[in-house]
Amino acid sequence: MREIYLDNSATTRCFPETAELMNKLYLEEYGNPSSMHHKGVEAERRLTGASAILAGILKVRPANLIYTSCGTESDNLAIIGAAMAMRRSGRHLITTVIEHPAVLETMRLVEAAVREDTILVSVMHTNNEIGTIQPIEEIGAAVKRRNPRTLFHVDAVQGFGKARILPKKARIDLLSVSGHKIHAAKGVGFLYIGDGCRIRPILFGGGQQKGMRSGTQNTAGIAGMALSARILYDSLDRDNEELCRLRDLFISLVTQIPDVFINGMGAARRAPHIISLTVPGVRAEVLLHALEDKGVYVSSGSACATNRPHLSGTLSAIGLKGDHLDNTIRISLSVMNTEADVREAAAAIAELVPFLRRYTRH
Ligand code: PLP
Repeated sequence: MREIYLDNSATTRCFPETAELMNKLYLEEYGNPSSMHHKGVEAERRLTGASAILAGILKVRPANLIYTSCGTESDNLAIIGAAMAMRRSGRHLITTVIEHPAVLETMRLVEAAVREDTILVSVMHTNNEIGTIQPIEEIGAAVKRRNPRTLFHVDAVQGFGKARILPKKARIDLLSVSGHKIHAAKGVGFLYIGDGCRIRPILFGGGQQKGMRSGTQNTAGIAGMALSARILYDSLDRDNEELCRLRDLFISLVTQIPDVFINGMGAARRAPHIISLTVPGVRAEVLLHALEDKGVYVSSGSACATNRPHLSGTLSAIGLKGDHLDNTIRISLSVMNTEADVREAAAAIAELVPFLRRYTRH
């Protein structure tokens, strides 16, 4: 059976070039970048090369990048690190109701201390459940107008690799990115920390990365993440155009099914790759497994928060109620998908829905 993978917001397949590069680093250039001998210097060079690529994409200095183990760690380092560094200036932090748990749970952790002055505002770039894009530049400008000392954190885990994000232009102080969402490895990410933005580390030890994040760097993962980012940004406009075409084709096909709707369609800006589809009368989990039987992989709600699939802050926030919260699947595309994938997946959904509706109602 042919596999049609449409869960790219949960994670992506590694680019073959990236897997090859990582393999070379694991087998040949496996030195510790902190070692003083040749093997260490070789590994250190890989890090320098990766930083040059990633910094070039963001138009920032390589020294502004701190490598982490994932998007979650980048979000934690940004929020806890800022809250600890600025606790004398204020204890007020702001976020939105549509954030990922990596931000929300972290905000809750520091929320106990919330009081007057706002030290940090955290807003996601692209929502992982419905694909809406927040007006980051406008929010950044508004935050700084109000209080130039307030730090602006952006979770760009779903937006990096799809959108051109320029931290300086958008007045972003802290930007979180994850490798496995951009066709690189799981277990690697980075945090951009703007010039003049002081945050405290949350990991202590050998003092790597100027003490900001102790722990031996994941050189293979980092080099792979930079290569995947370069591949994506080299053909970004063309790929986004094709993704939008596939997204719109999928939407036009599935909305021919009676009584279904797409969430987030009213947003001024939508990601090219995320589609949130509500099918009243069919539980998301049932549809997900029925599609799986046909080789089509999608997600119910947000796959990276599956421990509490019933708690979709985003879907509730946009007004979905009752059963509709549980009738929603997410389809997320990548540059590896084809028109055939989209047509076959839409046909599978169209075939299954009437059957599952009968089945659910009896
Ligand atoms: N932030 C957002 C918006 C996400 O979608 C995710 C994962 O899906 C994360 C953070 C967490 O990233 P990671 O899985 O690399 O920890």
